[in-house]
Amino acid sequence: MKTCHVFVSGGGVGGLTLALKLGLCGISVIVAERNRRRSPLYKGELLQPKSIEILHRLGIGKQLDASSFPVETLRTQEWNWNHNDGFIRNESRLSYKILAHPFNEARMIPHEELRDLLIAQIEKLPSVEVIRPAKFMGFQDDQAVITTDGKEMKIAAHYYVGAEGRGSRMRKAMGITSEEKKYNHHFLTASFPRPASLTDGFVFGAAHSFLGLFPLPNEQVRSVYMIPPGSYRQFKDQPITDYYDLHGQYVPELRETMTTIKEWRDVQLMIPFRFQSPRYTRGRMAILGDAAHSVHPMAGEGMNLAIQDADVLSELFCWMDEQGKWRDERQLGWYESVRKPRVDQMIALSHRSALATPITIGRFVCCVNVRSRRWKSDRFCIFNKCSMFRVWDMQKPIYWIGPII
Ligand SMILES: Cc1cc2nc3c(=O)[nH]c(=O)nc-3n(C[C@H](O)[C@H](O)[C@H](O)COP(=O)(O)OP(=O)(O)OC[C@H]3O[C@@H](n4cnc5c(N)ncnc54)[C@H](O)[C@@H]3O)c2cc1C
Repeated sequence: MKTCHVFVSGGGVGGLTLALKLGLCGISVIVAERNRRRSPLYKGELLQPKSIEILHRLGIGKQLDASSFPVETLRTQEWNWNHNDGFIRNESRLSYKILAHPFNEARMIPHEELRDLLIAQIEKLPSVEVIRPAKFMGFQDDQAVITTDGKEMKIAAHYYVGAEGRGSRMRKAMGITSEEKKYNHHFLTASFPRPASLTDGFVFGAAHSFLGLFPLPNEQVRSVYMIPPGSYRQFKDQPITDYYDLHGQYVPELRETMTTIKEWRDVQLMIPFRFQSPRYTRGRMAILGDAAHSVHPMAGEGMNLAIQDADVLSELFCWMDEQGKWRDERQLGWYESVRKPRVDQMIALSHRSALATPITIGRFVCCVNVRSRRWKSDRFCIFNKCSMFRVWDMQKPIYWIGPII
């Protein structure tokens, strides 16, 4: 059995930020992380100014600056399509530079890169131990049970924090159930080399399509393309060049650079949803980050909320320790009262941003009869520009195979 002041289940950005700040206060922490290695999955890259400030305070500012790409401006273009010709109907710019904040920019950093920076800093602290792979299983006799390398281990802590993301076992141990709300769209996402000119964040929207492009370090760009739910499989039946076309219609140079995407396997499906846990604490347990809430990715806030939850919770723990209130678990309630209303706001903001995007999927369609291969389209449909169309077979129900412009 091991002992510590705070046990953290989950070594994602939230759990690691918490462990790092607690370690800096001299509080002993054990983090159990299920995965031994870096995950190849895309999982959030945009850091907002507040999170950048927190990471600077934690001593990893220089490393963060070196490993990330600054984004000062987010540009939104609304497009109209008239047959094969697209034109920009409206353009707006959101500049971080107007913020009266020392970090008036966003930064793009690959998720796992940020975790590595946090771990490297944690390794310098004697009071923090990260065990991986180690899976938190639940509680036995008031102690956390983890399995590591096939063996079971118990950890006795004074506080237990769940930072294991969406399927949090800590949340379940707290007896909390919460309902997830789904959206009427999914996203395709991939990263590939970017043209040198693409240094701002870009959002392209038309009546029926949405494409986000966000510059990454190492001359890469993250693409996020909206599709109808359930259509990913049908996309995968199309040649990968169709994926290039979805981008090329807005940024023609991408047709050249994104050929590094060789097959649909290189393109990840991202399913947005939102939920808010009715509470974040119970007794000596607390949850943070995706274990406690989830937001639509449109406002780029999920990872940031996890970092900010961790910042507030660790601030409280450090204060409790300093003030001799360490064993007074009622103090944990402050964490919930500070963070939950803030997260409510962010859930609403992200939700409204999601609703503002062109997702009126299904009104104007190209139809093709799969047997006769004859196209039947309404006046909004341009065959060559069809990035979403409906396959129409007289003998089968209508089904989607991709989004339309
Ligand atoms: C495709 C995608 C794109 C996103 N884009 C953005 C973005 O641009 N900006 C943004 O701010 N956010 C974004 N997000 C959201 C962001 O990734 C999450 O909000 C953020 O990672 C939450 O951090 P976390 O530490 O709470 O949880 P996670 O990052 O999920 O970390 C949880 C950790 O716990 C571990 N774990 C799970 N179960 C156990 C267990 N039983 N025992 C031990 N360890 C366990 C997992 O292996 C994982 O490492 C995106 C998410 C996805 C999926």
